[in-house]
Amino acid sequence: MKSALSLIVFDLDFTLWDCGGMWVDCTDPPFRKTGDGKFLDRSNRFLKMYPDVPEILAEIKEMGCQTALASRTERPDWARQLLDLMGYRNCFDFEEIFPSSKVAHFANLKEKSGIPYDEMLFFDDEARNILEVGNLGVKCVEINRGIDREAFRNGLKWF
Ligand SMILES: [Mg+2]
Repeated sequence: MKSALSLIVFDLDFTLWDCGGMWVDCTDPPFRKTGDGKFLDRSNRFLKMYPDVPEILAEIKEMGCQTALASRTERPDWARQLLDLMGYRNCFDFEEIFPSSKVAHFANLKEKSGIPYDEMLFFDDEARNILEVGNLGVKCVEINRGIDREAFRNGLKWF
């Protein structure tokens, strides 16, 4: 029998956002929002969610699925500050942001949500994360520099 899809999990760096061509832990806080709605760090790096992210999150809400973040960033505090500033901090049901193997992030997600691995779908841009998490039985989609509508839909279809 096919498993139900209950939880959709996203990596941050180069999956949901691009921090001026770097990982968020390589940026230069404090972060700020400009008058015209752009997000910059102290070195004026342009920090942005990929354009289709709001639509993808809205679609997941409509599906009645839960969402989570799983990030291995070395600076969880900076990642949270930027999520807060961008207004995305409350858009996810679960948040696992700390440096470790993503196997640890998914063990926490399973524990906190009560959702089994085979009901999770994971998007990430790094092959090693895809490999490790895939071995748990989570369905994983490798993203090529930023999620978009098409990659998301293909992931759903494949699940
Ligand atoms: Mg990444």
